Amino acid sequence: MAGKVWLVGAGPGDPGLLTLKGARALAQCDVLVYDYLASAAIVDLAPPDCDKIYVGKKAGSLTMPQDEITALIVALGKQGKKVVRLKGGDVFVFARGGEEARALHEAGVAFDIVPGITSAIAAPAYAGIPITHRDHNTSFSISTGHENPLRGTSSLDFAKLANPNQTVVLLMAMANLGGIVGELKKHGMPGDKPVAIVREGTKPTQETLVAKLDTIVDEVERTHFAAPAVVIIGDVVRERESIRWFDRGALFGKRVLVTRPAGQTAEFSARLWELGAEPILAPTIEIGPPDDETAARAAVARVRDYAWVVFTSASGVHAFFDRLGEAGRDVRAFGDVKIAAIGPKTGEALATHGIRVDFMPAAYVNEAVAEGLVARTRAGDRVLLFRAQEARDIVPEALRAAGRVCDDVAAYATRTLVDPDFTVKLVHADIVTFTSASTVSGFLANVPDAADALRGKLVACIGPITAATAREAGITVNVVAGEFTADGLVDALEAAVTA
Ligand code: SAH
Repeated sequence: MAGKVWLVGAGPGDPGLLTLKGARALAQCDVLVYDYLASAAIVDLAPPDCDKIYVGKKAGSLTMPQDEITALIVALGKQGKKVVRLKGGDVFVFARGGEEARALHEAGVAFDIVPGITSAIAAPAYAGIPITHRDHNTSFSISTGHENPLRGTSSLDFAKLANPNQTVVLLMAMANLGGIVGELKKHGMPGDKPVAIVREGTKPTQETLVAKLDTIVDEVERTHFAAPAVVIIGDVVRERESIRWFDRGALFGKRVLVTRPAGQTAEFSARLWELGAEPILAPTIEIGPPDDETAARAAVARVRDYAWVVFTSASGVHAFFDRLGEAGRDVRAFGDVKIAAIGPKTGEALATHGIRVDFMPAAYVNEAVAEGLVARTRAGDRVLLFRAQEARDIVPEALRAAGRVCDDVAAYATRTLVDPDFTVKLVHADIVTFTSASTVSGFLANVPDAADALRGKLVACIGPITAATAREAGITVNVVAGEFTADGLVDALEAAVTA
């Protein structure tokens, strides 16, 4: 098959700013060629078996020269590979995408261009600076500041840039800022013109420095303000006073350790990113088949013998339908068997199979499931609990005590995951989250002295059982969610940090 190369703009940092088309290209590629401006969350969208080649470019430390990168993507395309060449921001804004596209054309390799959101516009936007505003300007320009005006090598037209009705945006300008500012003043730009510099724009590490043309160079020196940064010069900078938003969020800049299993983090992470927090993925458990699958298989095969089937997690739902599918059957296997879900996420997992639950308790805990089921069944009724191998005995005990016949079946097992890099990830976290008692146990397996390792960090638990497990291990729990879902946990965190 003929190869193809997608030149994809990753956006400036926030993974939510990748385009849908870019995400589709990533999801199907054989090889990913990326540089340092692309965020890890976007790189992770590539399939696990895809070859990931880092060609990171940083000022001064070229990992791979541009002509080699170009030659690499041409060669991969010719080998018949589906290649995504991922670049920070937009592919054609000071990113040499034009050269790569021309080389692909000349070599006869098919390619697509997927534009990205450029840092030149998005970094100011996330700092609350609109690149145009009717009150201030009628045009904007985006220039590179990497040529040094002091050496007379800059080809920038400073007379034009000094025009007061324009917003001047400069990329790669930090090293030459002094020279650029000097030239602008020489060409008549007033010394009180507002200037903002946004570094690591759209990321949880975003920082903004605001000053005037006269003072900006001293301010940069004083604060050691470093690249990568976008410089914005113009009256639009004043708007930040009222429009500033991203770096005002309660969780802005917080690094949040996410201990839940891989594959269950997407929504949680997306919410954290939205609030300006950075999720650090550090799963302490993984989900796999139970030690013995006989009971699960048998239960699925005769599901119609039950009056009720109870699911207490989305994983249980997935395990059930995987088995059903393996047996060549579908949702009709349930007939009119009643179905219970412990909470909304489990309910949503069932809904993807077209199932409406007959019962979901008001509080998403086992105690409430047990009580509700006893109320809805009669003595002798058969109830199937399709859940984690290591689940607590509350529900089966309550059902049996009330004379119901209860099959407590291990649908899947949660196993501790030991990660050699775990402590490194933990050290960088401000907030540590636990979304089940098993994530706490997994954490303890990774961290010998939990109380010590968590000193100074905020610990947040999804619900009372998880919190109790943590406390038993000597962990101080600072936040417990009011609604026992990942969303509820984020809400509780936001409230706790704002309080
Ligand atoms: N193609 C990219 C620009 C690449 S040039 C784009 O469209 O955004 C690299 C320069 O981009 C950096 O030196 C810096 O000036 C700017 N830059 C890229 N990402 C940035 C970010 N998240 N915050 C601030 N500046 C950024």
